Amino acid sequence: MTDLKSLTLDELTAEMQKMGEKSFRAKQLYGWMHGRQAVCYEEMTNLPRTLADKCRERYDYIVLKPVRVQESAIDGTRKYLFALPDGNTVESVLMRYKHGSCVCVSSQVGCRMGCRFCASTLDGLERNLLPSEMLEQVYAVTRHTGERVSNVVVMGSGEPLDNYDNLLRFLELLTDENGLHISQRNVTVSTCGIVPRMRQLADRQLQITLALSLHAATDDRRRKLMPVAERYSLNELMEACAYYFERTGRRITFEYSLVRGVNDSAEDAALLASLIGHLNCHVNLIPVNPIRERDYVQSERYAVNAFRDRLRDRGLNVTVRREMGRDIDGACGQLRRRYMRGE
Ligand code: SAH
Repeated sequence: MTDLKSLTLDELTAEMQKMGEKSFRAKQLYGWMHGRQAVCYEEMTNLPRTLADKCRERYDYIVLKPVRVQESAIDGTRKYLFALPDGNTVESVLMRYKHGSCVCVSSQVGCRMGCRFCASTLDGLERNLLPSEMLEQVYAVTRHTGERVSNVVVMGSGEPLDNYDNLLRFLELLTDENGLHISQRNVTVSTCGIVPRMRQLADRQLQITLALSLHAATDDRRRKLMPVAERYSLNELMEACAYYFERTGRRITFEYSLVRGVNDSAEDAALLASLIGHLNCHVNLIPVNPIRERDYVQSERYAVNAFRDRLRDRGLNVTVRREMGRDIDGACGQLRRRYMRGE
């Protein structure tokens, strides 16, 4: 069956016309789904029963329900585990900041990229998420908190550019003025660096931020942490980043997770500065979040600060990501794994 919540307003209008309905019904239905995050047709009080019945017969209406919610006692960050209609589960995170709240969305169930430090990829890729299933993560959090979400980052489990078409549709619906209408500038998509897709995305000329998970400043070292580096060299990646800026005017965010003794030396900082110094960018340093299946250890506080200062001395724009939700399995994929183990 067609997935109703993944249709654009134009497509929904065409569907209504096919059913012999007036086209304003499409706008009503769309408003209930995307503007008001309705969980069922019963909520749509101005929709005729007969139309609701027809829709039930013809379309899937995807709704996510939280099966587990953990709230951090330290900073109020909430981690949600949602049940998908097929029995799979996905994680999303709500982070609250002074300037608004941000939802971190998963783009796939599992992941096939194989980054060594990441818990989401340990069992490989289960399946792609539908646009509606990505949207519903934001909607379900909105329903649960009753607060408006101002920012969305696609930094949960999965590689968004490995689910490219669904990602684009998700972005279109998320930022649409008849839906939640989140500003493109408040949306970030994080990738491990699938070069052709980065270029394709650049050509769409969206105003979203592209974040690149770099984690190493030489090809050798990056290959040890991220298998995707076997496919695309740093050279190609940097060219794709420059192209993204050229096409969109949006500066790139580089994510760099600091692992003790692996990528956090003075030499690493110097190599990184040389690699990206010519780009219009921002660097986000993340002390690696240790996962139980691997023995990577977080860089010490002083090493993180020293690394940051070395980059700053070279004129780079750098922040250290505040660790949020440390006490609630904050690292990608940890909550789902725990749930699957029956803990
Ligand atoms: N697949 C995308 C988005 C998901 S991960 C990507 O690779 O960018 C979001 C970020 O968290 C990425 O930078 C990823 O490398 C990083 N990450 C994953 N596991 C981590 C961990 N245990 N500690 C620190 N960062 C981690």
